[in-house]
Amino acid sequence: MRDTVEIVGINIDKVTFEEAEDRLLDFLRQDETKMIFTPNSEFLVDAVKDRDFSEILNDGDLVIPDGIGLVIASKFYGMPLKEKVAGCELMTKLIEIAYSEKKSIYFLGGKEGVAEEASQRLNDRYPGIKIAGFHNGYFDEEEEKNIIDDIIQKRPDIIFVALGAPKQEKWIYNNRHRLGAKIAMGVGGSLDILAGRSKRAPEFYQKTGLEWLYRLLKEPKRFFRMLKLPKFIALAFYDAKTR
Ligand code: UDP
Repeated sequence: MRDTVEIVGINIDKVTFEEAEDRLLDFLRQDETKMIFTPNSEFLVDAVKDRDFSEILNDGDLVIPDGIGLVIASKFYGMPLKEKVAGCELMTKLIEIAYSEKKSIYFLGGKEGVAEEASQRLNDRYPGIKIAGFHNGYFDEEEEKNIIDDIIQKRPDIIFVALGAPKQEKWIYNNRHRLGAKIAMGVGGSLDILAGRSKRAPEFYQKTGLEWLYRLLKEPKRFFRMLKLPKFIALAFYDAKTR
């Protein structure tokens, strides 16, 4: 039985990082493709308006709270989440598990060269790690067919999908039955971090729940996107009080 809290209509797993890690190990022992989603406040504001997106998130097999906004909002419902579980860190953990258990990885997403750079960096860090393949995240319908054929042929155990939300969640959902993988995880900008193209916030910002502020200072053009954070808090507060 999963322990979840429903925030603005989306079920979020009440897990610690270690519990999430245990779930990854379970998923790798099963046969069908398990979907891991990493929603933050922005995702949930979008999901409220996009029914397909909200249904897909609710179909996820592990839906971690990848933002301090969700941890705050869970308290409005009287069902506090245990902690923020950063998608970027869970991805790193899954890569370590893949390395030790000799599972193969496929990267789909990012600008031209990003998935390849991420693969190279992993190879340097984990010599012999099984990278089944990679492809950038900008493709038309025709290319998409080839990508899916490539994945089916290479049969990776784990697929990391970085197409931005909600595109990556929809892609995983629509293709999950033919991928043959054990885990498909939406990772967004974490692939750029893995490739060394962007940096995570220093520990101070992570520990104080101010990672969003660091990103805003680094990328001021995110300002309008970030207005979704207070919007999300207001939406969740209203939802919790009117239930
Ligand atoms: N991306 C992609 N194809 C697209 C749109 C986005 O591959 O059609 C990639 C983009 O290059 C980036 C990643 O998706 O590497 C994450 O995008 P976004 O900034 O939306 O995610 P966030 O930083 O919020 O995780």
